[in-house]
Amino acid sequence: MDVKPYIGMINKAMDSGYLFCTYCGAETAAAGAGICSECESPIYYTRDELQGSSPDLVEKVNGIRQLEASGKYGEAAAAYDALVTANPDDPNMLYAAGAFYLRYSNNEIRLIRYDLPGFMEQNPVHRVQASQLVIKAKIIFNKAVYVSEGRAAKGGFPARDTYIAFMAQIKMMHLREANALRERLGGLGDAFLARYADLVFNAGAENYDYIIEHAAELLSGQPFSLNAAFYLALALFKKKRYADSAALLNVLNGRLSTSNVGELLREIATAKSL
Ligand SMILES: [Zn+2]
Repeated sequence: MDVKPYIGMINKAMDSGYLFCTYCGAETAAAGAGICSECESPIYYTRDELQGSSPDLVEKVNGIRQLEASGKYGEAAAAYDALVTANPDDPNMLYAAGAFYLRYSNNEIRLIRYDLPGFMEQNPVHRVQASQLVIKAKIIFNKAVYVSEGRAAKGGFPARDTYIAFMAQIKMMHLREANALRERLGGLGDAFLARYADLVFNAGAENYDYIIEHAAELLSGQPFSLNAAFYLALALFKKKRYADSAALLNVLNGRLSTSNVGELLREIATAKSL
């Protein structure tokens, strides 16, 4: 497999404008519909469109994103808790809050890794904090599953609600439950969300050949998701094809609003030096 055609697909996709995520404040290159590259929520509108229809929400999630970007995770958590309390029936808000708590936990783990000598007594504190944050994330993900299953059964947006329940289960590594939801999603008439869920599920199940075989469908189709290029880079990394993986990640770096790209590049550098 040659990665050059994929780089062409990524560059072409980058020219199509951006959609805004009202659940985490990130913007992702997408057209018509897409998947947020930070929290993997479905996205449908530009920042300008949302500024017109829900200015308060745009301001709130913008504020949360800025807090997170400046490392003020505690304050961002309080703001997410308030958003969840204000939107108790929105499974996507619950799911996004759970995804935030996982990022918060990962940040605590990073603080362990980067601690300077002499400050090692802080490490157990970060470790305990990280595991408590994962527990909190799981409580919220379980609520997201419950609320989305209830809403999907009542009609409304069954494909989106089923997708959210699927993602919440995937983030909890509940592969069997996620697989049942993925199969149900396949029959709900949203081919894009179903195809994306297939990719995510196969990443979770470590079926990297599936990702290498199918990533192009999500990169060149309409709608498309650039996240598929990240999953492809992950699959190539797992197959020890470090140069190909890094080539894709270098094109995505700084253009996908997620820290995962930089982290995978660092893992490749470590793997090559071993
Ligand atoms: Zn998002």
